[in-house]
Amino acid sequence: MTQAMNPEDEKKVEEAEAVVETPAPVEEAPRLKGLRVCPGVARGIGLQLSASDLEIPQFPIDQSDVRGETQRLRMAASSVDKQLSALSETLEDDAPAEAAAFLDVYRMILKDPTLITETARLIREKLVNAEWALSLRLEQIRRDFEQISDAYLRNRFEDITDVFQRIQRVLAGRRSATSLLEAEELEDQVILVADQLGPADMLQLRERDDLDIVGIVMETGSVTSHSAILASSFGIPTLVGVENALERIGTGREILVDADAGVVNLSPSDEERKAAARAMRALRQKKRSLVKLRGEAAVTRDGEPVALYANIALPEDLPEVRKAGADGVGLFRTEFLFLNREDLPGEEEQLDAYQRVIRGMRGRVTTTIRTADLGGDKMLSRESLALLKGDMDEEANPALGLRALRFSFAHRRLFIQQLRALMRAATAGEVRLLLPMVSSPEDVHEVRACMKEAAAELEAEGVKFRSDIPLGGMIELPAAVAVLADLLPLLDFFSLGTNDLVQYTLAVDRTNANVSRYCDECHPAVLRFIAESIRRVTAAGKEISVCGEMAGRADMAPFFIGLGCSALSMDPAHIPAVKERVLALNAEECEVFARGLLRRRTAASVREALSEFAQKTAAQPEETPAAQS
Ligand code: PEP
Ligand code: MG
Repeated sequence: MTQAMNPEDEKKVEEAEAVVETPAPVEEAPRLKGLRVCPGVARGIGLQLSASDLEIPQFPIDQSDVRGETQRLRMAASSVDKQLSALSETLEDDAPAEAAAFLDVYRMILKDPTLITETARLIREKLVNAEWALSLRLEQIRRDFEQISDAYLRNRFEDITDVFQRIQRVLAGRRSATSLLEAEELEDQVILVADQLGPADMLQLRERDDLDIVGIVMETGSVTSHSAILASSFGIPTLVGVENALERIGTGREILVDADAGVVNLSPSDEERKAAARAMRALRQKKRSLVKLRGEAAVTRDGEPVALYANIALPEDLPEVRKAGADGVGLFRTEFLFLNREDLPGEEEQLDAYQRVIRGMRGRVTTTIRTADLGGDKMLSRESLALLKGDMDEEANPALGLRALRFSFAHRRLFIQQLRALMRAATAGEVRLLLPMVSSPEDVHEVRACMKEAAAELEAEGVKFRSDIPLGGMIELPAAVAVLADLLPLLDFFSLGTNDLVQYTLAVDRTNANVSRYCDECHPAVLRFIAESIRRVTAAGKEISVCGEMAGRADMAPFFIGLGCSALSMDPAHIPAVKERVLALNAEECEVFARGLLRRRTAASVREALSEFAQKTAAQPEETPAAQS
């Protein structure tokens, strides 16, 4: 019930409402948002590489100048080619493979004859200078690329733009982005702010000793671009898609880049500055310990080698793999190639992705590629499913639904296409195929039948492929543990998928927060299934690894080593800590510890034992010299 107000009160309400309704004076938010390419925090002075630095002189020419302009164009293109080849010669041996790969891509773009012929045609027909003609040609290419739905290919337009801009810079008398930066501006740690920074620019910038780049902010660019991949492999906190970055961040202004939170802080407080400095110190320390361990083999103190592999979702993860000093890729979850899109990756796109991973690990051990584990919580988009004419009904229990091999068998053509791509990719280097959610020998027979079909097709088409690829199975269902004796003769190797082994052993949906406290890796049932699997597989003389999240737990390493499992595959970020742990362990002691752990009856008691052993063994390096003296 409302009561009548006196005029004074009414006036107050009106004033209050007026305050609410009047928009606050526009004070621009001191934060800009962006997309994280490489995590971390950086504080530094913004150093702008503005669009005006790349302004292109445009002027009409006379008919008589056409030859001269065309000649300028050719010479500039060849000079860029020389720059790039000089750059690839200076690449250090341990430079990321992407660095060499993108230089190859650039040189390929440069070698495309239409670059010269089509641009020369524009010079001739429009009577414009070479720089201008290049801009016009780029605009034509951009329009063609707009028709392409494939995100990867669309991103390649950035490479073409970069090559064109390099030629334009040479034509305009500028050599590279690096020469655009004034020496006196480089005293502090800098955060580079650019519309877009090509990977070649980035490599050159990195090579400058006088330039301490701690962060990168780009207005445009995508997270899958080569520059993003390079930024990520260099470990420089980087954001892309930061709107109005050039306008809002002037050169000389102190800014903070919090790539983890996806923000650029334009006016950090003292507290924020201090917190950023702490985060940067921690990051540097982490990097130092990472570098220290990178080249070191993971071997226990009594000489047992433990292979530490990386789990990846996309070829773009490779830089992290190398940075972490992984022994190879132990699990490539190929289903990620199929997600977050409205179409499906074709055979050629898959082939390219698999080859990139295999080649990216050259010189290292075999790459283990898992066939798509689609379904469950990794479901295709409605649009992709529609292309497959898939059943679009929501599943009541997706984790128990059409997932992994079952999904592949239900979409046999898609599976055969993946097998074709994998078998073709296998000619690029050593590969093993891993099957998700194997539940019975029939699963393996069906996969082998599909492989035969794929091989017959490729044979008939005269396409190069390999069919003698080792075939392995994930042990992630209790059923697989139970029928291991029947699976052993059919498969060449095994990998323990502990994430799903926990889910299916304990009947807890791993995505359901209501039951997350029951999703317990320390449950004795899980440990016993793991032990049983490792015992049976190693007794049969076959290889077994662990590739679930448990493999990345430093405290679990003694359990796996003690059971005789000497291959762990994990997110690259965990490798240094696990390596550090392995180096402190003694395999014989681990064996005793693992036996004891299997006798524990509750998860709480398992946790207690893990932490006691961790404390005991972590103290050993200091204790041992004293005991010896
Ligand atoms: C697992 O289940 O442990 C595993 C490695 O596979 P994913 O996490 O992809 O299901
Ligand atoms: Mg799994």
